[in-house]
Amino acid sequence: MKRISHWIDGRLIKGESGLSGVVFDPATGQQQAQVDFASVAEVDRAVAAATQAFGSWRATNLSRRAEIMFNMRELVDANRKELASVLSAEHGKVISDAMGEVARGLENIEFACGVAHLLKGGYSEQASAGVDVYSIRQPLGVVAGITPFNFPAMVPMWMFANALACGNTFVLKPSEKDPSVAMFIAELLMQAGLPSGCFNVIHGDKVAVDRLLEHPDVAAISFVGSTPIAKHIYETGTRNGKRVQALGGAKNHMLVLPDADLDMAADAAVSAAYGSAGERCMAISALIVVDTVADELVDKIVDRIPRIKVGPASDPDSEMGPLITKEHLDKVASYIGGANTQGATVVVDGRNGVPKEGFFLKPSLVDNVQPGMACYDDEIFGPVLSVVRVASYDEGVQIINANPYGNGTAIFTRDGGIARQFQYDINVGMVGVNVPVPVPVSYYSFGGWKASLFGDQHMYGPDGINFYTRTKVVTSRWPDPRTSSVDLGFPQNR
Ligand code: NAD
Repeated sequence: MKRISHWIDGRLIKGESGLSGVVFDPATGQQQAQVDFASVAEVDRAVAAATQAFGSWRATNLSRRAEIMFNMRELVDANRKELASVLSAEHGKVISDAMGEVARGLENIEFACGVAHLLKGGYSEQASAGVDVYSIRQPLGVVAGITPFNFPAMVPMWMFANALACGNTFVLKPSEKDPSVAMFIAELLMQAGLPSGCFNVIHGDKVAVDRLLEHPDVAAISFVGSTPIAKHIYETGTRNGKRVQALGGAKNHMLVLPDADLDMAADAAVSAAYGSAGERCMAISALIVVDTVADELVDKIVDRIPRIKVGPASDPDSEMGPLITKEHLDKVASYIGGANTQGATVVVDGRNGVPKEGFFLKPSLVDNVQPGMACYDDEIFGPVLSVVRVASYDEGVQIINANPYGNGTAIFTRDGGIARQFQYDINVGMVGVNVPVPVPVSYYSFGGWKASLFGDQHMYGPDGINFYTRTKVVTSRWPDPRTSSVDLGFPQNR
């Protein structure tokens, strides 16, 4: 059985805690590997390596740090297919989707290549007589990233690229469900020239995470995962004096107005609801449609669903793979079962005709859903699309704004004025206009509102640079015999 161990101080370190987790092949349902779970002592070892490496990494000049990011950019580019196949083998997503994940992750490494420009401070000459004031950005120290199963390559790239480029050292705790790609990334970073100890990977569960949250030498925590855990991370991390950004779960709505191009809207809804088997934090899971076009739009979606090819990633024709575990599959399927009893209409039941092996569920469509029903209220995180019929734009906006989550949303319309009004009205962090999955490019930042994000800084882009640095302001006067005198008054500028 393949065993996945930790990566500490530039070396593979076999776990000694005696604890481990099971890594499945979701397409067959069989165990394919065992992953070591770190003890407190093993987490401490990784943090010690990162602490030791920090001084010289911070002192490494900006050109060299940028050069290492450029090298990493080339390596990830050259290894796109290998990265995609490693992550798809453990996650289950199809290769085209995995390639897309790597490509979007790579954008963040490309952004970090510009670190020399991004770290420029400000300078004010002659703020007072002979006095200049300037600000500089300095790294925080050891920072940790805790990542979810659904983007095992991209989400770590959201974090470590900017963190390292800014001069921090990094400890990654990837999801225990698909941990191999993190090890691949560690090897690539070493090949790129990153010194040992600057990037470490520890595997594990709550024990490892809680130690990172408490460790006095960890300065900051970046987290992406479900809302209850994000809240725990934020509360515990900040209580321990750390800077924390904790991105949580989502319920993303797509609002379709009567003037929308309904074929385009149906294509978008199907792609955004069922891509990656709905296991995306930006997946559309609630379709809010104005009554007058609801029947027509639902028919168009029903037409498209049977054409989606569900199967293992090893089959190049597959467009949608399995779910991550049996436990998750059962949970997602239970929402379809529960929908009928709560008064909704199951139009397409994805529990029918699934492959015998593996954790498969086919695309499912539930109509006549309303807030208060479990399939609307909960983040299902699977290929189940709920249709909520509304009378008007205003009712749609009211429902979206009343939802506790605020990650992504989209409006489908041909009316520019109403689209602009939507972007103004809506209490959601990322908005699409005729774009169903509006994940920002790497030179903006990614983050939801409300229960989708705990903390002040969004992930990557300019917010990422802010998060991984702290500013220092220097007020400076050089000795000048012409201006020197004794003055006991409080310094004034005017
Ligand atoms: P999860 O919250 O179960 O796990 C995320 C990480 O936290 C993993 O590394 C896991 O090992 C760790 N963890 C789990 N339980 C813990 C506990 N009790 N204490 C400490 N650490 C714990 O999330 P997941 O199932 O891996 O990922 C899916 C979730 O992530 C969904 O809710 C999805 O919406 C969310 N997500 C959000 C974003 C975003 O940007 N907002 C992006 C991707 C995924």
